[in-house]
Amino acid sequence: MTYRGRFAPSPTGPLHFGSLVSALASWLDARAHDGAWLVRIEDIDGPRTVPGAADDILATLERFGMQADEQPIWQSRRIARYEEALEQLKSTGLIYPCGCTRKEIADSLLNAHARNTTLAYPGTCRIGLNGKPARAWRLRVPDGDAAAITFDDRWQGEQTQNLATEVGDFVLKRADDQWAYQLAVVIDDADAGITHIVRGADLLDSTARQVYLQRCLGAPTPCYLHVPVVTNELGEKLSKQNGATALDNDKPLEALSAAARHLGLDELSGHTHPTLESFYAAATAAWAKRMGVTK
Ligand code: GLU
Repeated sequence: MTYRGRFAPSPTGPLHFGSLVSALASWLDARAHDGAWLVRIEDIDGPRTVPGAADDILATLERFGMQADEQPIWQSRRIARYEEALEQLKSTGLIYPCGCTRKEIADSLLNAHARNTTLAYPGTCRIGLNGKPARAWRLRVPDGDAAAITFDDRWQGEQTQNLATEVGDFVLKRADDQWAYQLAVVIDDADAGITHIVRGADLLDSTARQVYLQRCLGAPTPCYLHVPVVTNELGEKLSKQNGATALDNDKPLEALSAAARHLGLDELSGHTHPTLESFYAAATAAWAKRMGVTK
């Protein structure tokens, strides 16, 4: 197998320390395996995409010495593929149009909460739209035990999520006509031949959905590794929304050393690396040892 990894930032702002940790982890894992490392710009969430942020992220990655092995992939240029995948799923009868409004779903979840039952989407539109206009497209998940998806995470260990009780039929195309992250990520990883996904643990909760969707589309399931997320003093995931500042492009080694410490690469502490090359050589060796990577 030829290792192919990727870093997939959403251009909602400049690269910050939290996203640097994911970038570095995926880069080191690819290097440790002598594999390819790709960058994909996840710019299809119109309302969240900030003009100029993608170029900014690409420039920072380059300044930090993380050069992609292939041209970056832009999700906004791949819409035709998402359409095609939706058609494929329509033809297999696995998806259905949903006419529920946010309020209707929120109300049903509130009721479920009150009744102490599952907080998953209740599948209201499985049996038809009942006169309501179609808003979103949802993927039908299996019922009962068949909905339990288990995968092995190289950092977090074995994970199981029951899609029926914990998620419900999930959205692939949203009511605002935007493509859902879950669909785009699965199609893009499959088309790029990604074999290993290394990213933040905030996405652990999405992984079972992605594994299920891969099965529905006949796509292979990559190996997963979710690194601990960086949090602020309040324990919230660091993001642009809660004040994460852009990285200082003039001090890549400082930020990279801190990111390596966050990843538990303690061997690197106490050494000051004069160049990015020497930092990456030491960090790749430390990562390979920590994660038990043998080529
Ligand atoms: N674009 C997602 C994010 O920035 C990451 C997606 C992924 O790695 O699968 O949180």
